[in-house]
Amino acid sequence: MLQPSPFLPESVFQNASGALPQVLAAPSRYIQGAGVLDQLGVYLSLVPARRVVLYLTAGGERRDGARIKRSLDAAGIDSRVVIFGGECSFEEIERGMAAIRGLPMAADCVVAVGGGKCVDAGKGIAFRLGLPMVSCPSLASNDAPCSALSVIYTPEGVTELLEFYPQNPVLVVVDTQVVAEAPVRYLVSGMGDALATWYEARTCLQNPAGRSMLGARPTLAAAALGELCANTLFADGVAAANAVYERQVTPALEHVIEANTLLSGIGFESGGLAGAHAVAQGLTVLPQLHPTYMHGEMVAIGLLTQLVLESRMDEAKRVAEFCASVGLPAHYGHLSLTTANHTDMLAAMTGATAMAFLQNEPFPVTADMLMAAAVAADELGRAVVARVGDEAYRRLHGVR
Ligand SMILES: [Zn+2]
Repeated sequence: MLQPSPFLPESVFQNASGALPQVLAAPSRYIQGAGVLDQLGVYLSLVPARRVVLYLTAGGERRDGARIKRSLDAAGIDSRVVIFGGECSFEEIERGMAAIRGLPMAADCVVAVGGGKCVDAGKGIAFRLGLPMVSCPSLASNDAPCSALSVIYTPEGVTELLEFYPQNPVLVVVDTQVVAEAPVRYLVSGMGDALATWYEARTCLQNPAGRSMLGARPTLAAAALGELCANTLFADGVAAANAVYERQVTPALEHVIEANTLLSGIGFESGGLAGAHAVAQGLTVLPQLHPTYMHGEMVAIGLLTQLVLESRMDEAKRVAEFCASVGLPAHYGHLSLTTANHTDMLAAMTGATAMAFLQNEPFPVTADMLMAAAVAADELGRAVVARVGDEAYRRLHGVR
């Protein structure tokens, strides 16, 4: 059975002699635009790659396989397809490695085309084969494309662990037309994940003991990307969701795709996580939430809870209003939860306290404190929805 990656970023940056350094990690190139997948062969000359494994879902191959192949052929790049099995598990990584080793071609690059799990599994494969990794996200729902870590699941889909790598993907290529043609809920969920970036990075930055996902101190740059990410969503989130309903690439959609993918991706890894992601991960212990709700939807509720925990009530209100406007959950009821269910809430919040990044909060946080914050966040969210409605959520979830 495959072993987890032994690489731990903090082992590089922690030393006995002194303070932690500030560290920023990012892909070498980030390329975004409508139709850019048609130029993938040209972009791969930057790696440079000559013999490429295209790692994608069967659906992705039907949709984009032929035009990607054309682009690679035109650039004189040899390529073979390996189909992603659907879960980012050690079993899948091992299967993918075996498939690549069995090819009649000595691959020099792994190109993952798909959602977060496909990209994350591609990173695990490329790391173990010692190959550069290129990510081509087909959704803007997650932080996978730019980061040097993967969320590994069991074959049944339960989170197993985070696996870290020494290098970020060398190249990220985001075709905004592909994102515009995906269901809108992916984009909106990605906004929930992205919006939390700034508030978590700020908490990590302001706490002298706070650490980013790199096990280091955050840079001002990472925090600034997080803040720009939030401001971009506040400005363009609603218009971007509407653009995807119309399957149109607009400037607002381009901005939000960059926020969800690049700004949030670098922002969370180099800026650090805190209460929002701790609560989101804690919520995954409740089986009724999986697979009904997406990561970013749980992060949105986690963010509301974090802001209440930090007594930032004005910001919590603004976030709840934003969630209501784009269709993200604005209270726990939007995740089919009631805060009166003490057993479920205690299980989730106890799960949250097991997350190391909860320690980036400026004070020790107990499950009881999170429970109280969740109750208050729920009340605040319900008050906001009573005032502004939740039409966007209902449209997204098909609720009448
Ligand atoms: Zn996230």
